[in-house]
This record gives sequence, C-alpha cells and structure tokens, in this order.
Amino acid sequence: MNKLESEIHYAPLPMPEAGTLQTVAEGVYWLRMPLPFALDHINLWLIEDTLNGREGFTAVDTGISDDTTKALWQVLAKSPFKGRPLLRVVCTHMHPDHVGLAHWLCQGMPDKDGKALFQAPLPLAMTLGEYATARLWSSRALAEETRQAPNAQATSMAEHFRRHGMTSQEDYAKAQKRDGFYGSMVPSVPLNYQRLLPNKPLRIGGRDWEVIIGYGHSPEHAALFCKDLKLLISGDMVLPRISTNMSVWATEPDADPLGLYLESLGRFEPLPEDCLVLPSHGKPFGGERSKKEGGLHTRLRQLHEHHEARLSEALAFCKDARTAAQVLPILFPRALDFHQFTFAMGETLAHLNRLWHGQALSREIDNGIFYFKAR
Ligand SMILES: [Zn+2]
Repeated sequence: MNKLESEIHYAPLPMPEAGTLQTVAEGVYWLRMPLPFALDHINLWLIEDTLNGREGFTAVDTGISDDTTKALWQVLAKSPFKGRPLLRVVCTHMHPDHVGLAHWLCQGMPDKDGKALFQAPLPLAMTLGEYATARLWSSRALAEETRQAPNAQATSMAEHFRRHGMTSQEDYAKAQKRDGFYGSMVPSVPLNYQRLLPNKPLRIGGRDWEVIIGYGHSPEHAALFCKDLKLLISGDMVLPRISTNMSVWATEPDADPLGLYLESLGRFEPLPEDCLVLPSHGKPFGGERSKKEGGLHTRLRQLHEHHEARLSEALAFCKDARTAAQVLPILFPRALDFHQFTFAMGETLAHLNRLWHGQALSREIDNGIFYFKAR
C-alpha cells in the first residue's frame, strides 16, 4: 500500500466472491465481475427496489458482454436474488465494462434458446450523453461507415498522434491498423431508455438518489448519491487507488478533459466526508470511520494534488518548445507497449491541453507538428 492509499480508510467489508452479494447498506449490495484487462474487475451495485408494484432489484452497471459475466449473473439470479426479479438497469456511463450487458439484462437475461429469466423489457436509465454515444458507437450505421472506409477512423487517430510528435513510421502503421473495438464489446444497446437529469433524483427502493453529472472521463457520467443512506455510487469519477483516465483523442483534438474533470470533482465537495464511497474499481472507502479524514474529501484532495503535480512537471519540461510525444516519458517514465502508448499519449495531451486552455502554455504549429511552450 503506498502513502496515498494509507491515508484512505477502506470500509471493513469482505470482498464478495464471484457470484455472491456483499451487503454494504440496508438493501444495497456489492457484486464484483471479472474483466479480461489489466484492470481485472468491476464493482456493480444491486439495490432493493419496487417498480410498477413488483418487488425486486435495480442494478447499477452491468459488467462486460462475455459468457463469464453472463454465467455469473445467472448464478446470482438463481440463488442470492431469492426469487426476486431484476426490475431495472442504471448505467453510470457508456464504457463497455459498465454498459456491455445492458442489452441482455434489459431482455431479462435470456438463455441460449431465448427464454428470459425475468419479465422483459426492463427499463434502462442513463444520461442522454452516455446513451446517445453508446448507441452511436455500437450502431450498424457506424459499422457501415467503417465498411465503406475501413481505415478512416484509425488513420485519423494516427494523424492525431503524428501531429503531436509520434515520429516512428512503424508506430504510424500500427496506429492505422487499430480497429474500433467498442462494437465488439458492446454488441447492442437497448432501443429505449429513461433519461437521467441532474435536478431529478432517481427514486430507488423508496429513497431519493441524487444524480451528479461529471465530465472529462466520458460524455456525461452519472454518479448517484443517497442522502438517507450516506452512500455515493461514484462510478469512475472518484476511484480510491488509481486515477480516472482522461484522454484527448482525434475526434476532439482541442478538448480539455482534465479541466472538465477537475471542475466536476467540485460537485462532490458538498457531500459529507463520512459518506461511504462505492467506486467502480477498487474497494469501498470512507463511511463511519472517516468523520474527519480518510474518506471522500481526502481522496478529492489527493486527486487534485496528483494532477497539479503532473501539470507542474509538464509545464517545467516545456521551458523549451516540446511535442506531446516528448513530454510523454516525463509523465509516464516506465516502458510502454503500443496500446499503453496510445493511452499515455491521450493522457499526456489531456495535461498539455489543460495548461494550454489555462494560458500557461502557448501552442504553435511548425511543419504540421504541434509544439507547446511555457508562456
Ligand atoms: Zn469508464
């Protein structure tokens, strides 16, 4: 455990085994699903609920669309649910580990013969920004566009990296070969949804859950806060051990996701320090033992300090004009494979664009390459 992590008070809760539920508060349960990535798990939440006169559960986030996750949901539905149905699905945002199985859960978890376990269709609640983006990225229209111009998107990304100082021809060729893989991880998204809005609390299990919108990580991320239970479902906006990914991609090359993210963290400031934080990755933290420290506000402070330190490092290095590719090893000193390199480029640019939007760096283009320089 590093120094920052030792400042955080984790809740004294046993980690739920795959296919089991761990109670975190009255009527609220934690379940973990495996992920086939370096980040090897996602936390999902089940909340006891009554909808249209029926008693059952609302699920917050779904896990990735694969057979392992489906099998675990089926195990859960058969025993820990104690015969009660899943009634509704809420997704914090559109990333594949959060929304991947929404289509299948909303169909009532059909088996291979199409026989559903629960009465379908179940409603899906998301923000407009997340729903619309998920629908677009998994759509047949996008698949058709890719069929007609197979390399267009990847080439646009390769050009983005080239403009920001990626000089290797070999890397350019690799970038051009990268497929959009969202559609393979989110094969479809339900055709209807209920819109989550910031001033309209979501009623779950007879309690209000305030919707806290966050930017920078995804288009319009929804975190949920229940004042009665002092519970915050933070999604990917506030994580205990790792910092949330923020990247600048070719689609919006001048974006300032880090600025948006840091501003969004301010929306969590009014919440109590001792609320129990339920993050999508890592372990729940805060809660009763965190009256003064070790909870939400401690983590918010750490996140601000972390990004401030990296912004200072990047700014200092840009005393002379630098490309993003030159700044990258300052922020990511370890060896990276090509996949990690693309994410590191995205994150490095998030820091440079923040400094540029904040007027600390100027940006000039020379021979088609962008250079950042301290003002
Ligand atoms: Zn995410």
